[in-house]
Amino acid sequence: MTLPNPGRKPRVAVHKFSSCDGCQLALLGLGEDLLQLSTLVEFVHFAEAGPVDPGAEVDIAFVEGSIGTAADMERIREVRAKSRFLVAIGACATSGGLQALRNLAGGQAWIRAVYPRPAYVDCLATSTAVSRHVQVDFELWGCPVSSRQVTVALRALLSGVQPVEERDKVCMECKRSQMVCVMVARGLPCMGPVTRAGCGALCPGIGRDCYACYGPAENANAEALARRMEASGIPSAAVGRRFLSINSASPPFFAAGIGRMDSHD
Ligand code: SF4
Ligand code: SF4
Repeated sequence: MTLPNPGRKPRVAVHKFSSCDGCQLALLGLGEDLLQLSTLVEFVHFAEAGPVDPGAEVDIAFVEGSIGTAADMERIREVRAKSRFLVAIGACATSGGLQALRNLAGGQAWIRAVYPRPAYVDCLATSTAVSRHVQVDFELWGCPVSSRQVTVALRALLSGVQPVEERDKVCMECKRSQMVCVMVARGLPCMGPVTRAGCGALCPGIGRDCYACYGPAENANAEALARRMEASGIPSAAVGRRFLSINSASPPFFAAGIGRMDSHD
């Protein structure tokens, strides 16, 4: 990406699709730094922070949320057409998110069972990642993403370079911080060996196991970790649920989880 014309600040939009708004908070949570950021870029659409202009042409669009309705499908194409660089942020936008569990469970049947007037609920049978519908230039995984991830990516883009993708696993962050491994030391079913780094090993850092909110790492051997968990005595169905959670639609987690869900071990 090259910087926009001299004399004007890069224009940025933050779009929301099917999501909880948590990833937008990674930007809002910058506090005073967000004011500093607004001296470098012009936020033309960021409804949670104030400016509203969803149809504006922008240099960088951050997209939060999965594609869960017919209106989402139409709108993401419009956003793509008006954005020079599109960054998908968070688990919903990168893998379909928690709501992609409905892909496995007959979403329409659930709607009929839960809502007295299902005709009012207008959603697709599936929740899918933004990249399934339009070209995505960069993805930031996490549920939610962190302020650090967003600012590092934005800084790279403002410098005219492609942001660097996080490829390590959470285990590497534990090692770098000299944390005691909760899997080795306490037998917890930690998902760190297959999970993309970037959070600073937040959960092992407070003594609990990672539940993979940052999605699959590069070359994640999910099947090997699943077998390791089973060998430690965790029932297969419970192991399956570890993988079919926030990022259930990501291929390695889906493959490791789906065959185990009906297990009665
Ligand atoms: S605590 Fe989890 S993330 Fe950290 S080294 Fe152990 S298995 Fe890996
Ligand atoms: S340790 Fe795992 S579950 Fe916890 S924040 Fe990091 S990626 Fe998410």
